[in-house]
Amino acid sequence: MTDTTTLTPTVGAQTVDQKRLLLTAIPGPESLARQARREAAVPQGVGTVLPVFVDRMSGGIVVDVDGNQLIDLASGIAVTSVGATHPSVVGRVHDQVDRFSHTCFLVTEYDGFIEVADTLNRLTPGTHAKKTMLFSTGAEAVENAVKIARSATKRPAVITFGHAYHGRTLMTMTMTAKNAPYKDGFGPFAPEVYRAPLAYPYRWGTSPERCAQEALADLNDLVLKQIGAHNVAAIVIEPIQGEGGFIVPPPGYLAGVQAIANAHGIVFVADEVQTGIGRTGAMFASEHAGIVPDLVVTAKALGGGLPLSAVTGRAELMDAVHPGGLGGTYSGNPIACAAALGVFEAIEHDHLLERAREIGDLITRRLRAIADECPWIGEVRGIGAMQAVEFIVPGSLEPSPEATAAVAAFCHRSGVLALTCGTYGNVVRMLPPLVITDDLLDDALSVFADACRSLS
Ligand SMILES: *Cc1c(COP(=O)(O)O)cnc(C)c1O
Repeated sequence: MTDTTTLTPTVGAQTVDQKRLLLTAIPGPESLARQARREAAVPQGVGTVLPVFVDRMSGGIVVDVDGNQLIDLASGIAVTSVGATHPSVVGRVHDQVDRFSHTCFLVTEYDGFIEVADTLNRLTPGTHAKKTMLFSTGAEAVENAVKIARSATKRPAVITFGHAYHGRTLMTMTMTAKNAPYKDGFGPFAPEVYRAPLAYPYRWGTSPERCAQEALADLNDLVLKQIGAHNVAAIVIEPIQGEGGFIVPPPGYLAGVQAIANAHGIVFVADEVQTGIGRTGAMFASEHAGIVPDLVVTAKALGGGLPLSAVTGRAELMDAVHPGGLGGTYSGNPIACAAALGVFEAIEHDHLLERAREIGDLITRRLRAIADECPWIGEVRGIGAMQAVEFIVPGSLEPSPEATAAVAAFCHRSGVLALTCGTYGNVVRMLPPLVITDDLLDDALSVFADACRSLS
């Protein structure tokens, strides 16, 4: 095991004790006092998982304005994988902000941008020549992957999958599968986006092998019969689906999707926005499936909390776009690039890939034991520090968003910040920062076990 005592993080000079601590109800009076102002100033369309205001964060702990210490199983949705205050990130950000905050890379250049691009070119799967363009958000990078694929292939169509999540802009919202809350009332949507069923072993009703074969046959049919392969620019897939329910595809499926893309000159795009940068115990989840995407999209954990995203891919594809065709005022902002270099350093220095695998083993072991005793749990799944529990009505396959909400609420009341997800709203996901201690994780999972026991 990694010696987690060396991971005890600090905020400035202040050490945050890595312990869960409840001083008030959650949310506490200080958080509640701020809610009215929030409601007056910010539209209701912005959902909040837990209406608690944060004072500071460190390691696996979120300290709220009432002094409560919550265990972080969210990492700000897989963003602060190296912790929200890792010294490698904080130090580089301080240094950069002292020198300059912004030039716009389209105006004048700086080293940090090139260093991040070089690093991604080196770390993404495959030894072919690669280039990287940086952007600010995940959705923006997915949109640009589509632009690059269309420009390189001179074809219009984009294929996505059931349960997919790719963002909230017009194109990425169109590519996203779930209507409410992401799409409802926001149409008309972008044209030339098609959807294949996703191989979702738990809900397919056959063996994982058959699930993979049948889902690939569906995709082949969509490509060849419904759209025409010569019209398809890109197939875009999350190697493990995030918002859609942490769906891990069956063995052979992703390689099969890649084979279909390769056979027809279609650009194969892996959306690694949630899975990438160490979360699954490999730098990229694509590695677990042995696939080598033509384009890899990263964001979330890449900037360690600062807005940074990237498209990394085959040099000839990336160079297909005419000069001036890619950009954005904030693309690859220098402070965000400094943070990303700190993230890469932290992952290497603190052995966080290994740590993600240990966290995955620990969570899986505990969750399997909990599942054995809880009839509401249909499946435990995930890879590395990206783990989830799917809740069902006992004795059936029927999703239970009610049980899921009850478990999440129990966790929140008890000081454990767990998130839900899934097309059916029936999945609790665990995305702890990779610097969390075993003791904190154990404590969080004990709370989760109590939450499951409370469903009778
Ligand atoms: C979060 C997410 C996005 C969108 O990223 P934003 O930074 O919120 O625009 C895209 N794809 C996946 C897989 C994601 O999890």
